[in-house]
Amino acid sequence: MPLFSARRLFYKFLMMTLEEFAGAIRQSREIVVFTGAGISTESGIPDFRSPGGIWSRYRAVSFQEFIRSEESRIEAWKRRLETYAVDKNAKPNIGHYFVQSLNERGKLIGLITQNVDGLHSQSGLPEDKIVELHGSNRTIRCLECNKSYEPAIIMERLAGNFSSPRCDDCGGILKSATISFGQAMPERAMRQAQEWTEQARIFIVMGSSLQVQPAASFPVIARRNGAVLAIINREPTTLDEYASFAHNGAIGEFCQRFNTMIADG
Ligand code: NAD
Repeated sequence: MPLFSARRLFYKFLMMTLEEFAGAIRQSREIVVFTGAGISTESGIPDFRSPGGIWSRYRAVSFQEFIRSEESRIEAWKRRLETYAVDKNAKPNIGHYFVQSLNERGKLIGLITQNVDGLHSQSGLPEDKIVELHGSNRTIRCLECNKSYEPAIIMERLAGNFSSPRCDDCGGILKSATISFGQAMPERAMRQAQEWTEQARIFIVMGSSLQVQPAASFPVIARRNGAVLAIINREPTTLDEYASFAHNGAIGEFCQRFNTMIADG
């Protein structure tokens, strides 16, 4: 389509080189980073959509199914038990520390993450600089009385016994404090993410396929506001051609090289 090609050509013309992007980072103190599952694969946590990822072995249980049926809850808890065995020993990697160092140097407005693994906070990034759009799997909550539980306690109860766990106090249904398909997005987190996105002069996407909405709308908003949009992802995303800088490769390798390029900024 001619219009589409013209737009593509236009954005290609505006693309930055790696050196120009590094220069922009050195000068800026208004950076927002947006991360997805891809930043944690090098910590051993699989993403959802890469081959061998979680979607290739489990289907997503929607919030409505989880509430409605014990069978669906069991399915969801079986998946959680399997992923917990990996998550609980995972440690932050160079990508998480890259974001943390932007903050240490006074460059970061905030981090918006789709991840639920808590690795950004484990890397030392303060809680008030983190928005977890899809909640956190470091807590389990009662859907009735909101009592919270350490995952380790519930996981121990689950092993070998497959009925879904219930709240000790009120008997309510327990669920990981993550946002499932069909569940409302957390209002405060969405508001904070919107605010940061509007303030960003540089908006960096790291390790997201940008297929999950409404999260994937933030890079578009930032770009429309005139921010430099950078995308670092192993596979191309549909927004690459719209970005100011796009790198298709592993985050670890990229950060290793990039850290030295921005060191004196
Ligand atoms: P996604 O699985 O849709 O996309 C991940 C992207 O990361 C892929 O495009 C892949 O090519 C890329 N990638 C993988 N490893 C990489 C690496 N080392 N370097 C660079 N790129 C890499 O993930 P998403 O966009 O975050 O959306 C999926 C949903 O999955 C989110 O809602 C998130 O809540 C959830 N999720 C979270 C975790 C976690 O907390 N770690 C893990 C799996 C899924």
